[in-house]
Amino acid sequence: MKLISALALLSLTLPTAVLAADELVVYSERKDHLIRPLLEQYSAQTGVEVRFLTDSAGVLIERIAAEGTNTPADLFLTVDAGSLWQATERGLLVSASGPNLQANIPDHLADPEGRWYGLSMRARTVVYSTERVDRNELGSYADLADAKWQGRLCLRTSKKVYNQSLVAMLINANGEQATEQMVRGWVANLAAPPFSNDTSLIEAIAAGQCDVGIVNTYYLGRLLKDDPTTPVTVHWPPATHINISGGGVVANSDQKEQATALLDWLASDQAQALFAGLNLEYPADPNADLDPLVEAWGTFDADQANLSHAGRLQAEAVRLMDRAGYR
Ligand code: FE
Repeated sequence: MKLISALALLSLTLPTAVLAADELVVYSERKDHLIRPLLEQYSAQTGVEVRFLTDSAGVLIERIAAEGTNTPADLFLTVDAGSLWQATERGLLVSASGPNLQANIPDHLADPEGRWYGLSMRARTVVYSTERVDRNELGSYADLADAKWQGRLCLRTSKKVYNQSLVAMLINANGEQATEQMVRGWVANLAAPPFSNDTSLIEAIAAGQCDVGIVNTYYLGRLLKDDPTTPVTVHWPPATHINISGGGVVANSDQKEQATALLDWLASDQAQALFAGLNLEYPADPNADLDPLVEAWGTFDADQANLSHAGRLQAEAVRLMDRAGYR
């Protein structure tokens, strides 16, 4: 586990007593290179030093719980709404609010009590071969269960929380029975055993192993940045599933006001474009600028249901996928 100073130089030039009051600690599931530039910018603008450590959400949640009132953590960042929901269920996050959080973050991307806020949207949508699929063949998530896709569909493993959140939100929208029928249809249409990650799935579509799949768009974005001729593009089903990368203020932080100020800054127009742009995601703030590559995929109608359902229905989603034979 790495504990990193985002503004190491500042720490050399200021006395320790000053730093103790002006230093925030972030526990982040979001990767180092995706948050460092933001925290450095915040430090440069405010003089507040921010240190962070990165690990999986599960490990960080257990750590915050075990550290109790002694936790150094002020802000918790994850890459999945279900993980934020779990942190609130454990009582680890506290309600927070600020002008940018209120003005820029849509309601369905935040906890109704303000204990967490989405900071970027990650669309988990249908991607397809531009060589073997006519875009008019494509429809909803449920359509991928149709027999016309037999032997043509690729999926990532059901163990990944992204798919657990997807199925949880599909249960929320369509009910358990219809969702189970859908997932059984997907399994019947698989061209290959489920993949361990989205990138290899997209590469399998490009290579002709399958024709359609479900992935987070930023993985396709990365491949297209490397090779713009990759013959795979995006389709937007009705009520496209989105997840969030987001965060909340730690209940046992002794600097809740400072932590809230940082969270609110991350929701500002300026920070929002960078937060999403670093990973080719969609800003939570609908007014923030999109990366041109992302913008070229066009607009979509996101599922407007509150993302807390992704946590509430996660266990049910896991049981459903197991029953349906989705490994
Ligand atoms: Fe990811």
